[in-house]
Amino acid sequence: MKKRLYLPGPVEVPDSVARAMSAPMINHRAANFGELFKRVSAGVQKLFQTQHDVYLYTSSGTGMWEAAIVNFLSPGDRVLSLVSGDFGVRWAKMADRFGLSVHRLESEFGRAVNPAEVQAVMEREGPFKAVFITHNETSTSVVNPVREVAQIARKHGALVMVDAISGLLVSDLPFDAWDLDVAMTASQKSFWAPPGIAALAVSPRAWEAHASSKMPRYFWDVSMAKTFAAKGQTPFTPPISLYFGIDEALKLIEAEGLPAIFARHEKLAMALRRGLQASGLELFVKHDAEASRGVTAIVPPDGLTPLEVRKALDADFGMVVAPGQGDLADKIFRIGHLGTVDAVDILAVIAALEVTLTKLGAKLRLGEGVKAAQQALLQA
Ligand SMILES: *Cc1c(COP(=O)(O)O)cnc(C)c1O
Repeated sequence: MKKRLYLPGPVEVPDSVARAMSAPMINHRAANFGELFKRVSAGVQKLFQTQHDVYLYTSSGTGMWEAAIVNFLSPGDRVLSLVSGDFGVRWAKMADRFGLSVHRLESEFGRAVNPAEVQAVMEREGPFKAVFITHNETSTSVVNPVREVAQIARKHGALVMVDAISGLLVSDLPFDAWDLDVAMTASQKSFWAPPGIAALAVSPRAWEAHASSKMPRYFWDVSMAKTFAAKGQTPFTPPISLYFGIDEALKLIEAEGLPAIFARHEKLAMALRRGLQASGLELFVKHDAEASRGVTAIVPPDGLTPLEVRKALDADFGMVVAPGQGDLADKIFRIGHLGTVDAVDILAVIAALEVTLTKLGAKLRLGEGVKAAQQALLQA
């Protein structure tokens, strides 16, 4: 049976990207790699909508949290960690290990960060050297108000560090216009490519903080990345095949254009929500405005576990959806819809879920979800 990935990363890789990755190796210290490196770096800069520096690392997304901590902070620095799900929990834990003084502000899971609370905490507990925020909290399927939080953090003189690992190409995140300091993403989510490359955007203010940062660092040292980037190189051997793939993916991304990509994710996310609700399913995130445009968490019908639903959907339709994470592992399952996802993918997963859940004994309104999603697509 044909497999269909509905994961919030890794995303399905377009055929032309997969083909580009099969090209023979080249010398990463030669001019032809330099041209490729510069073209890919410039393309990724456009995705962050920034004129500032962007660096590519051989890493999954998590490495960029560490790069942000060791390059721009010092042991003992006070940071405000905005925790709205499992990824926020993990980033804060990492900061603990590096000896930062971490103040956590937790949102109820399923809700977005509340800027008014951020403002109050910064006034009451500040000053903070940095604020950590997750753009798209993949674990709960929430999108956070990065722009508003960045404004508040700015007013209080804190660096704004944004985990945009699953959010960069899903919802607008203009690094310069929103005056962010550090933002990060990873290839398996926002570059329509396999895992293995992660990216770090760095503002001039972050560079100033780098000059006085006292964390030990080597692999993640952004000064070293800068020195080598000037020569069209990376300090260490890059994953050359991934550069070939991302070079091709960037052409597809450029051809569609960021505004159209954001609009597509918006339209499809809302059609999916309307469809699932009309089928009789419970969405984990209740408010449309706070709902991620790239992943949707669902509470299984009474009497069914997320694992049973996921197994049956895979067995019946080859559709691979994600479990919950951390404390939500037994409470939700998640449908990923980021990357090159289209309306057919959305209609198909609603139709398939209705069949599979009905077979499992859930009382769903068969066909109603597809109809509601069709109507939402017509209205969009
Ligand atoms: C996927 C993800 C990560 C972790 O990325 P890895 O590539 O698995 O290291 C971190 N934050 C968010 C929001 C994510 O979606």
